[in-house]
Amino acid sequence: MNDLQPIALPGVDPRRPLVIAGPCSAETEEQVLDTARVLAAEGIRIYRAGLWKPRTKPGGFEGVGEKGIAWMQRVKRETGMYTATEVATRRHVEAALKGGIDLLWIGARTAANPFAMQEIADVLRGVDVPVLVKNPVSPDLELWIGAIERIHNAGIRRLGAIHRGFTSIDKSIYRNHPMWAIPIELHRRLPSLPIFCDPSHIGGKRELIAPLSQQAMDIGFDGLIVEAHCSPDCAWSDKAQQVTPDALAYILRNLVIREQTITTESLNELRAQIDKLDDQLLEILVRRMRVSRDIGQYKKEHDMPILQAQRYEELLARRAAQAVELGMDREFMRTVLQAIHEESVRQQMEVLGK
Ligand code: PEP
Ligand code: MN
Repeated sequence: MNDLQPIALPGVDPRRPLVIAGPCSAETEEQVLDTARVLAAEGIRIYRAGLWKPRTKPGGFEGVGEKGIAWMQRVKRETGMYTATEVATRRHVEAALKGGIDLLWIGARTAANPFAMQEIADVLRGVDVPVLVKNPVSPDLELWIGAIERIHNAGIRRLGAIHRGFTSIDKSIYRNHPMWAIPIELHRRLPSLPIFCDPSHIGGKRELIAPLSQQAMDIGFDGLIVEAHCSPDCAWSDKAQQVTPDALAYILRNLVIREQTITTESLNELRAQIDKLDDQLLEILVRRMRVSRDIGQYKKEHDMPILQAQRYEELLARRAAQAVELGMDREFMRTVLQAIHEESVRQQMEVLGK
């Protein structure tokens, strides 16, 4: 995917972060316009509002639908902001494009469904509109990449991803666990794809928007999509995670943006040290595996089974404790040792099989 074009919209400052803000849902014409006016005055250039809302259970507010397109057109006319909305079906895409919506995003539930993604991709063929694909609800990077590929295959080149966190059975302070390693891996796999962070849906509460946005900027995300509402506590959806436009402006003003990409001498020096240490690590691992094979040979000659569970448990506990004493994370050390042990067992099995 090295033919992507920047999301940059004419007149919008291309510097990081590109901010998209607006209510979770368009509710009334007044709410849409009131929120938009304050956001525009605060310098926001892209306005989001969900017209079609995918709700977990039936009976909730499912969005105003096509009626809201005229309100988005008013936002555009009166504030000069670009408009963005979520699309989940062919009809949504057709209505949004016909109504002049400038940017489309695909929600987490839709991104998890290849049939829905293909339907959207088919209707986007031949259209030039920026599209952002949220991560699917489950922590499945391949499914996320697959959804992005379908849109790319349809010819969309102004393409981006939105990280909105993942469903997890682990109890945590987040509504959707950030699992930062997944968007970081997405960036490694598709380096030219811009990635936005959605701190509202990750956090699920407004107090978490500032710290999550800062974390996203520290990692190097390209932009943010944040829910803002003129009266958050009265919002018809996602009220706990929406902030007023003023609060959002305050959060954005206080973000520390690290943009230095030129590497300095001292950074190069540190990287050289890392490379050298990695060489040594590799060399030690090779030596350790050779010893494992020798042990395998010994076990073979003495008819001993490979697994010596007690010794392995002792080794794991001892090294994990030692790691903590040396200021390292216990779980990290256990993960590393488990991986090494697995490979040792595999090597010994090879020896025994000969
Ligand atoms: C939204 O952006 O309001 C939304 C429904 O998000 P998600 O698809 O991430 O749940
Ligand atoms: Mn929402």
